[in-house]
Amino acid sequence: MKTSITLLPGDGIGPEVCESAIKLLHFIADKFNLSFSVTEKSIGGASYDKFGTPLTEETLQACYDSDIILLGAVGGPQWEDLPHHLKPESALLKLRKSLGLFTNIRPAKVFSSMLSSSSLKEDVLEGTDFVVFRELTGGIYFGEPRGYDDNKGFNTMVYTREEIERISHQAFKAAAERKGPLTLVDKANVLECSQFWRKIAVEVHNDYPDVELNYMYVDNAAMQIVKNPRQFNVILTSNMFGDILSDIAGMITGSLGMLPSASLGSDYALYEPVHGSAPDIAGEGKANPIAMICSVAMMLEYSFQMNQASSVIYKAIDNVLKEGYRTEDIYSEGTKKVSTTELTKIIINEIEEVCNQEAIGLFLL
Ligand code: NAD
Repeated sequence: MKTSITLLPGDGIGPEVCESAIKLLHFIADKFNLSFSVTEKSIGGASYDKFGTPLTEETLQACYDSDIILLGAVGGPQWEDLPHHLKPESALLKLRKSLGLFTNIRPAKVFSSMLSSSSLKEDVLEGTDFVVFRELTGGIYFGEPRGYDDNKGFNTMVYTREEIERISHQAFKAAAERKGPLTLVDKANVLECSQFWRKIAVEVHNDYPDVELNYMYVDNAAMQIVKNPRQFNVILTSNMFGDILSDIAGMITGSLGMLPSASLGSDYALYEPVHGSAPDIAGEGKANPIAMICSVAMMLEYSFQMNQASSVIYKAIDNVLKEGYRTEDIYSEGTKKVSTTELTKIIINEIEEVCNQEAIGLFLL
């Protein structure tokens, strides 16, 4: 069956890293006998310049008509003074909401070749490989009532059974596939809302008896991620806690140019790098394509259940980094500085090499 992908390059380095993604997609389609159709549409500032809006009905419809959305990045200084609803970034919020993308997934996986670049000690970080499942469309960021006056400010943390159940199923499924525990991170010692999360998580757990479920308070989790990150496999948490923890988890393992993400709903999946449009380096061939390439690896894992193919991509990137190839953002003395397109080509060649060495290919399907 042909999978339809809408590609939204966006602004700044978005089109450059999307070009890497397209090259990788063509290679993957050939190698693993997958069939994609790719439709490219404008979003963000590029769309505003052409159509006067950062997200046209046509782009939105193309997303509705596809299974997967691959996004580069949006934004830039030339659009900063526009009213809020015309700013490039407003397109992202509208897109996530329209497609019902309620789960955000951010991996914390360390490339062995980058161990020495982390702010953590190598022996603490080595072997770290976990994912944070953050609820994205509910909780305190959206709860009513909200507001402030001269004397008080207030927000409301509210979660429905359905909101917790649907993300819990996704997180338990991932934990089962990864053959490791699921840690529910909350503040159940003070928040009734967190106690409710625990109640629902225990109910959903009944469907996944092989997965170990444990709990951790969010303050402790923040400490444990930097103290002993290897202990985690899947972290499941609410919107605000996930917002904070996924940044900590991402940054202990690499630079901004290397962090991918997935946002999943019931009907759609969107994959994008964590970084923005990096206007300071746009058009110079300096963008690190690894975050975008890893976003494609996440697509294989979460939309195609091709975990092995995804691992091959990670292994190839690790090998290439070990050989010393680096874009400028992660370059250090003694390594080899290459451009976006060069690094993409080197990684794709290495994926071929890893597949040959491990004699894997078509049988992955
Ligand atoms: P940024 O992520 O674009 O850049 C921060 C720094 O990291 C810059 O020095 C940049 O050169 C560097 N960097 C980022 N990605 C890189 C990559 N792949 N390779 C090499 N270096 C990389 O964040 P910012 O500067 O705060 O924001 C720039 C614009 O991007 C703003 O308009 C912001 O609103 C937007 N933004 C968009 C998204 C998104 O589209 N999801 C996310 C964050 C920021």
